[in-house]
Amino acid sequence: MPPPRRAKPKHPLRRFPTPTLPPLARSRVALGLTAFAARGVFALQVCRDCGTVHYPPQEACRHCLSARLDWRPQDGAGEVLSDTVLRHSNELYFRARVPLRLGSVRLDAGPTAIAFVHGACAAPPARVRLHAALDRGGAAVLAALPDDEVTTMADDRVLRELTNDPAGRKVLITDGRAAVAAPLARALAAAGADLIYVGMAEPWPPAAVAPYAQIPEALVRPLDVTDSESVTDLAAEIGGKVDILINTAEHHRPRGILARGTESARAEMEVNYFGLLRLAHSFAPGMRARAADGAVAWVNVLSIFALTNFPPHGTFSASKAAAHSLAQGLRAELRGAGLRVVNVYPGPIEEEWSDMLPPPKIAPAALAAAVVAALRDGVEDVYPGDVAQDWLARWRDNPKALEREVAER
Ligand SMILES: [Zn+2]
Repeated sequence: MPPPRRAKPKHPLRRFPTPTLPPLARSRVALGLTAFAARGVFALQVCRDCGTVHYPPQEACRHCLSARLDWRPQDGAGEVLSDTVLRHSNELYFRARVPLRLGSVRLDAGPTAIAFVHGACAAPPARVRLHAALDRGGAAVLAALPDDEVTTMADDRVLRELTNDPAGRKVLITDGRAAVAAPLARALAAAGADLIYVGMAEPWPPAAVAPYAQIPEALVRPLDVTDSESVTDLAAEIGGKVDILINTAEHHRPRGILARGTESARAEMEVNYFGLLRLAHSFAPGMRARAADGAVAWVNVLSIFALTNFPPHGTFSASKAAAHSLAQGLRAELRGAGLRVVNVYPGPIEEEWSDMLPPPKIAPAALAAAVVAALRDGVEDVYPGDVAQDWLARWRDNPKALEREVAER
């Protein structure tokens, strides 16, 4: 494994980067490419009648005029036919990033596409793998990487901007007591994070703090997301430094809707919904202002139960649905600055409040690895683990059927 990259100290007289975004215009049909790229999948339209694979996105098949075009995942295998280095652009965003290496890539599946070409790709003709990624404005772009398993987008000066690689960055994990928090801090440290702030309402008992004493990059700070003053205080202290915020704060009680009393439901909303809102009020403006100079991503650990209510955990599902909606709104508000909101929808996690649920459950370490991979790959919607993948597939296929099926388990 290569040694993690460290952030270079900033030169005090260096020009502050201009906060610009790539050009945003995309057709509605092209949003299909973006919807898959948001999950890290490269998909193209395939004609259901003649099998022709299309790029760029079309309203109808160019071969047989059929309107029955289905988005299907592609392996992206192809060949760079020619490349060029762009040294000038009329777009402000690209002007600040020249030279850009662009190339035309012929996919084995048929079409030819213009893509950013990774610096590690050999001179044409060269075998490459095409990836779809989101640019800072949240629209899909294509990137050609060498056809190997080791080169990442973050290795390339230009393509690194498509990722939210934690290497060299300062991260805040909002609740160090969450099951995922300690494995996440370890995974971020291994990925080369510069500093990992870990929020904790009370540094007690010692067993809660102990895992972080083993991680040199970790620094436990007081943070209680149910207390506006606590959130504001920490934002005043470190808000100007956080490049990636990962909200792990969660309150979870396995209760159906008909369980007596509203106290536990209220506590779930207080952490899962209002906690996120308080963090947004205190941290988002500062991160948005620094989006051109380091701040890159805001991660919400939500739940697959946000998509459809899981009745045995009915109030928890409702609080996560509220947080999911809030996170969508936050994404829209931060997109204009180029700050990526990453929403993570795990199935049940191996933690004490999911004890009663049958396996499979996702291990906290696997969830942590999925979050770090999402940051590295620049994706914005993550469904880690078998249960989440299964629910997502059923929800996309027929949300009403899923609602009925989970209620009858
Ligand atoms: Zn066709």
